[in-house]
Amino acid sequence: LRKIGILTSGGDAPGMNAAVAAIIKTGIAKGLEVYVVEDGYKGLVNGCIQKADIAFASEIQSRGGTAIGSARLPEFQELAVREKAVMNLKKFGIEALVVIGGDGSYMGAQRLTEMGINCIGLPGTIDNDIVSSDYTIGFDTALNTIVEAIDRIRDTMQSHNRCDVVEVMGNKCGDLALYAGLATGAEIISTSEDKLSEETIVSQVKKLSEASKRSVIVLVSEKLYPDVHSLAKKIEEASGYITRATVLGHIQRGGTPSAMDRYLATTMGIFAVEELLKGHGGLYVGQQGNDLVARDIQSTLNMARKDKSQVLADARLLNSQV
Ligand code: ADP
Repeated sequence: LRKIGILTSGGDAPGMNAAVAAIIKTGIAKGLEVYVVEDGYKGLVNGCIQKADIAFASEIQSRGGTAIGSARLPEFQELAVREKAVMNLKKFGIEALVVIGGDGSYMGAQRLTEMGINCIGLPGTIDNDIVSSDYTIGFDTALNTIVEAIDRIRDTMQSHNRCDVVEVMGNKCGDLALYAGLATGAEIISTSEDKLSEETIVSQVKKLSEASKRSVIVLVSEKLYPDVHSLAKKIEEASGYITRATVLGHIQRGGTPSAMDRYLATTMGIFAVEELLKGHGGLYVGQQGNDLVARDIQSTLNMARKDKSQVLADARLLNSQV
């Protein structure tokens, strides 16, 4: 192995740059040439590939977002499109690739491995929805951003005896809502795995109001309710609290990566290069307890999600008390 490439794919996540930097530095330390691909699979197909050096790695390693760009390219599912990508890699002499992204991106990595380019996937997403890793690169930073935002919202709710519905990201995974709910004492938590009906939320807030709770935070995962502003209105009418909704949106994706995300990204980056040097491909790296493990992409995509229902039940019990 002499030359390897790196790309980031799917939604950006804080810490992706730390992973890219670690891969560049580890690769160079092991005597490899390291290339970065612009804008994920799109750049691979268009031949947007550049040699990276230590100066570039040092410059980006602490920054948010992804400096090498990310994009979605649904056409990558077509063989002819992937053949173009493989041709470009061969032109540069790149024999192996690290793909940082979500599980959609791993499908592309698996297909490329089948075409002779060994790929290792790293979990880069704020959503923590990669089942084979306890934590994904970006989750910790996004969680801290959410907690800070909710603490700020709480100050005003508490000062003015109000309620706020806060919507957070997570795609189909409720971890951002669950962990933030536990960390902030949100009175009501509705997650993707255990959605509360609007009626249940309204009646629970009403109960808190009747018990003279000074402020209420209703924390919900994205994509659960058609309109959180209309949910806020229903809460206001039933409970008497002046109620607003706050959709945190892309505030959650950006920002300087936390120390934990940089640590996870760096250790995973080193691990990925070592796997490639062993001649491995078609694997993706996950954190399990204190260890990093590399698993077969195909098999991990079908793994069952960890059950966190007890944590959710505990959070709800603790936080709904007056
Ligand atoms: P994420 O990686 O965050 O899950 P997506 O699901 O959008 O994001 O996938 C990112 C990219 O991975 C897609 O735009 C596409 O280029 C590639 N991809 C997804 N599924 C496949 C597949 N079945 N075969 C080949 N490439 C795929």
